Amino acid sequence: MKKVLVVTGGARGIGAATALAAAAEGYAVCVNYLNHRDEAAGVVAAIKGGGGEAIAVQANVAVESDVVHLFERVDASLGRITALVNNAGVLEKQARIEDMDAERIHRVFSVNVTGSFMCSREAVRRMSTKHGGGGGAIVNISSIASRLGAPGEYVDYAASKAAVDTLTMGLAKEVAAENIRVNAVCPGVIYTDIHASGGEPRRVDRVKSNVPMQRGGYPEEVAKAVLWLLSEDASYTTGAFIDVSGGR
Ligand code: NAP
Repeated sequence: MKKVLVVTGGARGIGAATALAAAAEGYAVCVNYLNHRDEAAGVVAAIKGGGGEAIAVQANVAVESDVVHLFERVDASLGRITALVNNAGVLEKQARIEDMDAERIHRVFSVNVTGSFMCSREAVRRMSTKHGGGGGAIVNISSIASRLGAPGEYVDYAASKAAVDTLTMGLAKEVAAENIRVNAVCPGVIYTDIHASGGEPRRVDRVKSNVPMQRGGYPEEVAKAVLWLLSEDASYTTGAFIDVSGGR
């Protein structure tokens, strides 16, 4: 069966590393992006240059009609989806809860939580044997922040990742008998642009001494865990969480 993967937020960071690693393993890949069109085109060009199949599709995962359109584009261009990585995620400037407003919390939850729910919904409608599908695998990119709480930085983000953990547990059980596996990868501190959006581009280097392995991680190291969970090697693994966090 043709392997077709959607990676949300696939233009940069962990999403881009996942898209490239998946293409190397024979997946046709949809690289979803929000703003970074050139970076998405670069990932697609790299995949095609290696003999693979890929498309870039602009969609805001927090907007339901965008998500519906994203999956319709995949149906039409690549065929029936077999794998989804809910990777798109945001955090906002480091702040204490007493300084957060409702708009900020809503922005974080609408991308990280509602976006993951909506994309999962579209994937299940296509993968589930209940709907005539052939099954598939979903990997949610959570964070060890869901257990640490991210005090003084972004408790809203940490709480949104706790919701992603619960989505993982609940959906895994809901669709386990329909040939869909749902798992999560929980990165620690990884060298990507996300820390700049928190207001501290060099955050990984500041906190790495708290990591037992004494270093930050790389997107490619996260992608390897994602690819394993998507693969047949993980055929009896669902509702599971893999930390990629250097021991933290
Ligand atoms: P990143 O480099 O900032 O990438 C985030 C990606 O999400 C971008 O490609 C961005 O698209 C996309 N995105 C943001 N909002 C979107 C929306 N509304 N719709 C569609 N796409 C959207 O960050 P990253 O570190 O690779 O983050 C990837 C995932 O890993 C996130 O879920 C994050 O929470 C998680 N994570 C990261 C770390 C870490 O230390 N880096 C640790 C734990 C968990 P554009 O490129 O178009 O802007």
